[in-house]
Amino acid sequence: QLSRRLETVAQFVPHNARLADIGSDHAYLPVHLALNKQIEMAIAGEVADGPFQNACHEINNRKLNEIIIPRLADGLAAVELADRIDTITIAGMGGALITEILDAGQDKLTDVSLLILQPNIGEAGLRKWLMEHSYAITAEKIVAEDQQIYEIIVAQPNGHQINYSESELLFGPQLIQEKTDVFITKWQLERDHLQQALTQMETAKQLPIEKIASFKREINLIE
Ligand code: SAM
Repeated sequence: QLSRRLETVAQFVPHNARLADIGSDHAYLPVHLALNKQIEMAIAGEVADGPFQNACHEINNRKLNEIIIPRLADGLAAVELADRIDTITIAGMGGALITEILDAGQDKLTDVSLLILQPNIGEAGLRKWLMEHSYAITAEKIVAEDQQIYEIIVAQPNGHQINYSESELLFGPQLIQEKTDVFITKWQLERDHLQQALTQMETAKQLPIEKIASFKREINLIE
């Protein structure tokens, strides 16, 4: 049974995908997809030895060695062109790290038609990278699980750059249209958090002008 967060990621993986799950840890996502016969094959990429061993154990225990190949490698170095990977999932890390992984592995992205990304924070920076590299954000979801709120961003190469506005980059071009209850909760919490930080700075008579201006700007955008 996958977590709701990973279940949402899984829902976007196309039938018969050739998948690379980068930062796979226990390989729960590709294992779930393989057990449900949803993928043709997968690479479970891991940079750290412990999580790589977790992936190997899970794949062996489930007897999925024919379908899922674990690889110890940094980011998209886990992908070889001969794998003919068409779908990449990167979940459960910061947006800045996901951006770094995509940026460093651009030569591995030429034949990839779908990116399914779940940043824990830093979504806006990731969307900006996608925009600047001519990806269109084709779907988004926001889900709550265990007091956390997660965003899932699905992107496809588009051939030309789509210009997202500052608000679309921050809130998500699809999420801002849907405005679900979870979305509203996330941004109410974020606004309260920024407001609290501002008040604290003002009481402590610490006035880093640029930071205050950027907090106020974000509060205005949220409002
Ligand atoms: N993807 C799983 C999930 O969403 O539940 C596991 C997330 S876990 C919190 C993040 C994993 O990413 C860790 O196992 C870490 O070792 C791995 N990781 C971090 N940087 C990486 C990189 N550059 N290349 C591959 N894996 C990486």
